[in-house]
Amino acid sequence: MSELNLILLGPPGAGKGTQADKLKDDFGLPYIGTGDLLRKHKEEETDLGREAKSYMDNGDLVPDDLIISMILHKVEDEGDDGFLLDGFPRTVGQADALSEELDKLGRRLTAALSIDAPDEVVLQRLSGRRQCSNGHLYHVEFDPPKHPDVCDQDGKPLVRRKDDEPDTVKKRLATYHKATEPLKDYYDERGLLRRFDGTRDKTEVHDHIRATLATLRLEERL
Ligand SMILES: [Zn+2]
Repeated sequence: MSELNLILLGPPGAGKGTQADKLKDDFGLPYIGTGDLLRKHKEEETDLGREAKSYMDNGDLVPDDLIISMILHKVEDEGDDGFLLDGFPRTVGQADALSEELDKLGRRLTAALSIDAPDEVVLQRLSGRRQCSNGHLYHVEFDPPKHPDVCDQDGKPLVRRKDDEPDTVKKRLATYHKATEPLKDYYDERGLLRRFDGTRDKTEVHDHIRATLATLRLEERL
């Protein structure tokens, strides 16, 4: 079977996490979320985790090559059939570095899946999210609780996460447009970009991605 080495792109709130969950089930690919990966290495106090911690304790960013090492470890451990990478690369420089390292392993990306949504949609989706301390999620417009600001399941108060405050969302979007969105052109020039409309219903988006991946696999076999 051919490998599916995939990268997920798209602004926050476009539904990447939801689609990643579905793809994980469909294809049995390990999901590599770089935030989780970093946390896990730190918790397990691996060499890479300790190194990362020393940067973070100083308030510095974890260097790209360290993150890439973590990714490659996971790919070698669990990614025989492919992988699903989320949250990295975020810049063109990181994309170059990643492709160089994958090359050394004799692997290459199958596709960069870009799930797109306009800023207004992202803002509406994220700033309307409410959560209780048990993690139950609501949306003031799309999935409201029975009583305003109270969790249906446990009666706990619902709050908006700091990350979802409109000003924070706008900042996250600005960073995305500036640093990460150029990756769409980058992967498009390499024939790897596949675009999906993140404003559609999540089942529809999922069907579209699955069909695209099935086609890619057929093409690889020819
Ligand atoms: Zn709750």
